[in-house]
Amino acid sequence: MSETPSSGAPSAAPYPYEAPVSQALFDRAAAVTPGGVNSPVRAFRAVGGTPRFMVSGKGAWLTDADGREYVDLVCSWGPMILGHSHPEVIAAVQDAVARGTSFGTPGEGEVALAEEIVARVAPVEQVRLVSSGTEATMSAIRLARGFTGRSKVIKFAGCYHGHVDALLAAAGSGLATFALPDTPGVTGAQAGDTIVLPYNDLEAVQEAFHRHPGEIACVITEASPGNMGVVPPLPGFNQGLKDACATNGALYISDEVMTGFRTSRSGWFGIDGVVPDLLTFGKVMGGGFPAAAFGGRADVMAHLAPAGPVYQAGTLSGNPVATAAGLAQLRLLDDAAYARVNAVSEQIQALVSEALGKEGVAHTVQSASNMFSVFFTDRPVRTYEDARTQESYRFTAFFHALLANGVYLPPSAFESWFVSTAHDERALQTIADALPAAARAAAEATPA
Ligand SMILES: *Cc1c(COP(=O)(O)O)cnc(C)c1O
Repeated sequence: MSETPSSGAPSAAPYPYEAPVSQALFDRAAAVTPGGVNSPVRAFRAVGGTPRFMVSGKGAWLTDADGREYVDLVCSWGPMILGHSHPEVIAAVQDAVARGTSFGTPGEGEVALAEEIVARVAPVEQVRLVSSGTEATMSAIRLARGFTGRSKVIKFAGCYHGHVDALLAAAGSGLATFALPDTPGVTGAQAGDTIVLPYNDLEAVQEAFHRHPGEIACVITEASPGNMGVVPPLPGFNQGLKDACATNGALYISDEVMTGFRTSRSGWFGIDGVVPDLLTFGKVMGGGFPAAAFGGRADVMAHLAPAGPVYQAGTLSGNPVATAAGLAQLRLLDDAAYARVNAVSEQIQALVSEALGKEGVAHTVQSASNMFSVFFTDRPVRTYEDARTQESYRFTAFFHALLANGVYLPPSAFESWFVSTAHDERALQTIADALPAAARAAAEATPA
């Protein structure tokens, strides 16, 4: 292994402690996988240091390859709302696996999961299952374009909808602008029909509709954004989007991949009641497996193949193991479960605020139901521009101090934190014990 090329990632040395087994795995990974990871944020580039390779999870806890335990505040980026290895979800998976893992035919599990989604989220009259949130948003946009016969899509800066080519344009400097692609490999043509607007700015939306009459197929927005940190919609914003779409013959697509079945039993729709034309889901609905979905108005969904002309398909769509896990998880998510997750979230938010306040660190905790994040600024964050003005170097110090003391945060200042029903007193105490040193580290941090 000594011949293995180094990953070129920052050494663990300047951080509170080393993780030799994880580092060795990361070096091995870097030899065969770009950057050593299968999804960029996992590489810790925003915070530096060695990404922890996890070997197991139980309840609120993760165990890494060096044998250290962490309270998990990532929860697989949202899906593990019941904690890791929930016995009933595991049993449902084992039962499904024992009957075979994929048939490429219809099966009852996918019908049951679709029925559960339709029953929970009133605006979803019909739903199509896919395997990732990216596929869900990509397909919803194709369907919106097919249904309306129009090309242009409005999205908001700071909203993430997966790595769909047309949606990887997030530029926009506070002005309505045609998007330039954010990444090489996305052509001007692919991004050219995307209009990127500042979040929470209804006037910009009105103006875009005014400037492009009859051209806008849809507005897509995170139901309540969590991918620039947690930046909830201002009162009336989502309703305003819905109304602008209705007036102008466009579809309103609410991306609930993150918020769906997490922020309430019927997701963000259950909180703001704004009725989208189409919705997208992922994360929680898969129970830790690759399952996602898009759905909405029956007359729109009827345009999807084989009922209609808009093509969409998937070899593993509605996979029996994934749908069994998702269904088992959703069935356990009753009002009591959401009350529990919300209470845990509020307790952690209060602990974080108290610790940072004691050290005089400027911060703003923002939440959307049980999703929350901490911005290192004393001003409210309403747009991506606002989020980017925070002192993220303080987050880096805060993150590493927590990690050293057994608390696993998202490795970026621009992500939501996630909790579960399994975050119990021991987990909360571990966080409370780790926070004073982390708040001190944040207070003492200086820009790099
Ligand atoms: C995670 C996420 C996606 C992408 O889902 P993947 O399963 O990672 O492809 C899309 N939209 C939102 C709002 C998300 O949070």
